[in-house]
Amino acid sequence: MVRIEKGRIIFDEEVKVKYEVDVLVVGGGSAGFGAAISASRNGAKTMLVEKYGALGGLVTLGLVCYMAGYPEGVGKELMDRLREKGGLEKDRGGICDPKITKYVMEKMAIESGVKLLYWTYVIDSIVEDNEIKGVIIQNISGRSAILAKRVIDCTGDAEVSYFAGVPVEVGWELMDGYNQAVSLDFVMSNVDLNSFSSHDFYSTVQMKIEKAAREGKLPRLVEKGYLGPFPNKPAEKSEVYVCTAHSRKCRTTDAEDLTRIVIEQRDQIQKLVEFYRENIVGFEKAFLSYTASILGIRESRRIVGEYKLTGEDLVLARKFKDAIARDTHGFDIHNPVDDLPHIKHTHLPEPKEPAYCTDKEREDKRVCCVENNPKGRYRAYLKPGEYYEIPYRCLVPVKIDNLLVAGRCISTDFEAQSGTRLIMTCITMGHAAGTASALSIKENVTPRRLDTELLRDKLVKEGINLKENPPCYVKGGPKEVPMDAKFIVDTTDGVDEIIIEK
Ligand SMILES: Cc1cc2nc3c(=O)[nH]c(=O)nc-3n(C[C@H](O)[C@H](O)[C@H](O)COP(=O)(O)OP(=O)(O)OC[C@H]3O[C@@H](n4cnc5c(N)ncnc54)[C@H](O)[C@@H]3O)c2cc1C
Repeated sequence: MVRIEKGRIIFDEEVKVKYEVDVLVVGGGSAGFGAAISASRNGAKTMLVEKYGALGGLVTLGLVCYMAGYPEGVGKELMDRLREKGGLEKDRGGICDPKITKYVMEKMAIESGVKLLYWTYVIDSIVEDNEIKGVIIQNISGRSAILAKRVIDCTGDAEVSYFAGVPVEVGWELMDGYNQAVSLDFVMSNVDLNSFSSHDFYSTVQMKIEKAAREGKLPRLVEKGYLGPFPNKPAEKSEVYVCTAHSRKCRTTDAEDLTRIVIEQRDQIQKLVEFYRENIVGFEKAFLSYTASILGIRESRRIVGEYKLTGEDLVLARKFKDAIARDTHGFDIHNPVDDLPHIKHTHLPEPKEPAYCTDKEREDKRVCCVENNPKGRYRAYLKPGEYYEIPYRCLVPVKIDNLLVAGRCISTDFEAQSGTRLIMTCITMGHAAGTASALSIKENVTPRRLDTELLRDKLVKEGINLKENPPCYVKGGPKEVPMDAKFIVDTTDGVDEIIIEK
């Protein structure tokens, strides 16, 4: 009950404890899925709370169906199970069917002993002496508390950490603190892939979209983007997900701006669907079958943790003693303010090995740069064949104990986040956080004090092969990179990307 006293609204209510668990995972996206499964399999009584009615977060509810990154541990298991169920394309790997993915993720969580609680919003954190004790939840049954020995924040927006008083960062300081562009994904059905596949996606679809936007036939905010067919559908009646709508100058921690964005994107999608039907071979009889139920927010809050991974760490392929995940993905910054191509590099004051550096920032007019970048004038890319590691310390927030964070809101700078946010990498981070939570309870230490060698040994046994180099993913699929390979910046599809020279 809320009182009004002398014009002030007073909210004081005793909250009943409804659940007590060992490990509480908040958020059921990629990271939360990995975290809950590994905590439970390691013997912890585990509960996962999710504000919507399915697992997968952006992958399933957001229709981000291309599962990129290096599959290992729980992530690899998910891919194998999806293939068995026909929810993942056999030969091409990454594009999943979101409907099957929701089902398979849920099955895996339940089989692992996780207690799921859907339709439940975490609205606050319970903190005593810099230690998180649990969270306050709100759902159809009312308001209550969950107490936990360890909490893992997998909300993507660092909600639990923010409520607990962990310092956070938001957006890109080089672009007025704006976040990466936001996209509402959608699905078109009845696409004839037989005729579509004879047209090269990049040189046909993307260029047509760019031209139409230049001529004012599509909103300038729209990006060339990409699309992918769902697995196991007849080619002449295929279903494809499309990621082309984009909003700029976004403040993803402002509910009013999120409202502006989703309205803007629904409008863009109407125009895009008409555009595809009229201009793209294979789409003549296609129709809009559904739009994502959540906005495609690439980044919002990032926690401040024991270590902040930087763009420089990525291009220099840094390795860490406490590494819990690896990635071969460089940068992918969807321009926060302008409908220019994605930014795929960072800047360095001087060229430095093993980064691939180009010696003049503006040598190629088609490459999108940050004007007068204070970091330096050399464009630096992660070289194909190299990989970087994510240290455990990025998952450990400063200030609050017994809390871990996994997924797109770990401790990084803006640039590094654009590399580490891949779906498989988020699952692996979650996997590591789940194992670490359970292990720290067994060892009777806070997660901050956990012996990371012990954790890494455990993760290796659980299928995260931290002691072997990951296979290198280069444009066009996994490949060996020859020792004497030469590299160039390829801008043919309008996005600068470092590739092996033919
Ligand atoms: C448009 C777009 C395109 C992308 N393209 C690709 C791609 O092609 N390949 C790729 O690998 N990656 C891609 N990514 C990145 C990738 O999808 C995400 O980084 C990743 O899925 C994030 O996973 P997560 O678990 O950290 O967060 P999320 O998936 O956002 O999950 C967070 C979950 O927490 C829940 N939650 C939040 N707050 C609360 C609360 N207070 N209480 C209860 N529950 C809460 C949410 O409902 C959600 O289910 C893309 C991202 C976007 C937005």
